[in-house]
Amino acid sequence: MWDRLRYPPNWEEIALAIKERAGWCCEWCGVAHGAWRKSRKKAKPYKVVMAVAHLGVPFSDGRPGNRDDKWDVRPENLACLCQSCHRRYDNQGRSKQSKQTQQPHEDEAAPHVTADRVSHTPTRSPHVTAKQRARALAYG
Ligand SMILES: [Zn+2]
Repeated sequence: MWDRLRYPPNWEEIALAIKERAGWCCEWCGVAHGAWRKSRKKAKPYKVVMAVAHLGVPFSDGRPGNRDDKWDVRPENLACLCQSCHRRYDNQGRSKQSKQTQQPHEDEAAPHVTADRVSHTPTRSPHVTAKQRARALAYG
């Protein structure tokens, strides 16, 4: 569940930067923020929104990452995902610990994001001007 206290005080700013880095598109399936999509189960249209996920990628010194550490806001540890991919990502984490009875199809379809893949994601300049930010928001 969303618990604001588990996140750094400037989390909104960080999350915004990650969404801008991704061009307001899901980094896994490419869907755009604000697009309409039908849910597979209910065939009910819903609006796609981007949310930033913590991937828990390992640190450069070899320490393992922790996806539950919401203060780990290294750019490579964060990904801009649509709610569908986000849910799939959350399920992946849980299925590692519990029995492998959860939707094998979904797991198969999930892209394998590694630290390597993430670090090659094109990054934009961290120095985003207010003007650029306003433009990005206008598109969102
Ligand atoms: Zn997605």
